[in-house]
Amino acid sequence: MRTRGKATGKASPLRRQVLVTASRLMLVLAGVLLLTSALIGAYLLTAGGGKPPAQTGSLFSLSPPSSASLQSSADPSPTAVSPPTTMGPGTPNTSNGLHIGIVAGHAGYDPGAVCPDGLTEAEVNMAIARQVVAQLVHSGYQVDLLEEFDDRLPAYRANALVSIHADSCEVPGASGFKVARITDSAIPEDEDRLVDCLYTEYEATTGLPRHPNSITDNMTNYHAFREIDFYTPGVIIETGFLLEDRDLLVHRSALVAQGITTGVICFLEDDR
Ligand SMILES: [Zn+2]
Repeated sequence: MRTRGKATGKASPLRRQVLVTASRLMLVLAGVLLLTSALIGAYLLTAGGGKPPAQTGSLFSLSPPSSASLQSSADPSPTAVSPPTTMGPGTPNTSNGLHIGIVAGHAGYDPGAVCPDGLTEAEVNMAIARQVVAQLVHSGYQVDLLEEFDDRLPAYRANALVSIHADSCEVPGASGFKVARITDSAIPEDEDRLVDCLYTEYEATTGLPRHPNSITDNMTNYHAFREIDFYTPGVIIETGFLLEDRDLLVHRSALVAQGITTGVICFLEDDR
């Protein structure tokens, strides 16, 4: 701080002139700064639109899978496209009033199982998940395509949630699929029915045998089961083994998706 009285009192006219000019400049500068910060503030308010960042990363597009879209599935920050038939996270009801969550296993997180030629479980899961979503939307359901650790999973509410995974590429001779729900379920009857529907329909549609002996703790204690709302029936399906069942999983993925779709519809339509 300047000791004003003494300093200005003894100042020469020239020095006083300099001081006056300097303080005027400071005033102008302060004005400019205020104006700039006000403008920046206004810009941020309009650009942000008041939306929390998590809401902007809403849904994947519903377009059929292509090599380009598969590549983007490995991207931790997928593009957000809201299909016309869906609403915001956790919001039940549209068309037929039923709301489904489909998790594309490992999406936005890691590749999952990897085959020697570079084929990843994550890309196989995503190709299947996109088709399941498209089929369910086509049948009038409201569907969210979710990532492995999606922001919407905590307390997620829906009529059903299915997480799609595939098994190791390193087990010669192993073929088959399996379905599981959380061990300590809050709604065991509902979740068992969803498990049964998926077993029955997936088996009938794809012709793949059941492989229940390889159900692991990773499935029955699957992280998403602990995040979603207690009353959202949730299951995880391992659609097949990437080595022995590769032809089905990769080249006949529409059939794989159909097996999951009919399994979900079996559960939901029975429930009405
Ligand atoms: Zn997996």
